[in-house]
Amino acid sequence: MKGLIFSVKRYSIHDGPGIRVTFFMKGCPLSCLWCHNPEGISPFQETVVKHNRVGDKEFNSNEEVGKFYTVGTMLGILGKEEVFMNQSKGGVTFSGGEPMHQFEFLFDALKACKEYGYHTAVDTSGYAVKENFESIIPFTDLFLFDIKHLDDTKHIELTGVSNRTILDNYLLLLESGRDIIVRIPVIPGYNDDQEHLNRLRQFITTTKTESLKKINLLPFHKIGSSKYRRFNIPYSMGNVEPPEKEKMQIIKKFFMETGIPVKIGG
Ligand code: SF4
Repeated sequence: MKGLIFSVKRYSIHDGPGIRVTFFMKGCPLSCLWCHNPEGISPFQETVVKHNRVGDKEFNSNEEVGKFYTVGTMLGILGKEEVFMNQSKGGVTFSGGEPMHQFEFLFDALKACKEYGYHTAVDTSGYAVKENFESIIPFTDLFLFDIKHLDDTKHIELTGVSNRTILDNYLLLLESGRDIIVRIPVIPGYNDDQEHLNRLRQFITTTKTESLKKINLLPFHKIGSSKYRRFNIPYSMGNVEPPEKEKMQIIKKFFMETGIPVKIGG
């Protein structure tokens, strides 16, 4: 069994506790308008043309996106970073794309990581069959779980899929005894209106269990927007500006009333 991975990030500090190695896995059933990793959406290997500039000279080169890894290769990478991971109480994170999209590999990888004693995290949109989540619960210490919009029609508009499965899986994981950090992308004009924030705060407050450890508010940014051209994917967020710092502080204060610690950023 091999997993298709488009990036491996060492010394990652935003994908769970401590210093981590994050594997970004290809394939995602969603198509969020603001996705920062559009190279993770297709489940296939891709070749894209990269525009380079060295001084005054410009040239194109081909870039392969996606490489197959065995669990053994992955463990080899983790072995080299083990000292940093252990000293910082870090671990390994599977992100994407949607890591559940390559469920068989993810399952094997998580199981192997636990056999080696690594702290494991899965960064997920929540969009996967319930049974698959149930299968990985014993091998996952932390779920980084996105909630993008509570209104189903709006959710379909923004991500291409219904939120029903996602919210059901969120409730399932809240009862799993595993740690959860809920991640809310703050997208101006799309999900940051007061009515939606009220609904979201109420949902988090009324459903929370001991598992819910933190809320991360992820302000919209355009850092990944240039990738869209490279991947021939239309980018519709060009006119949207990142939320102002003051606005993020107000939203942070608002969500602190859930009684759950809130952080701006991952
Ligand atoms: S779920 Fe994540 S990876 Fe998938 S399209 Fe949305 S933002 Fe991108």
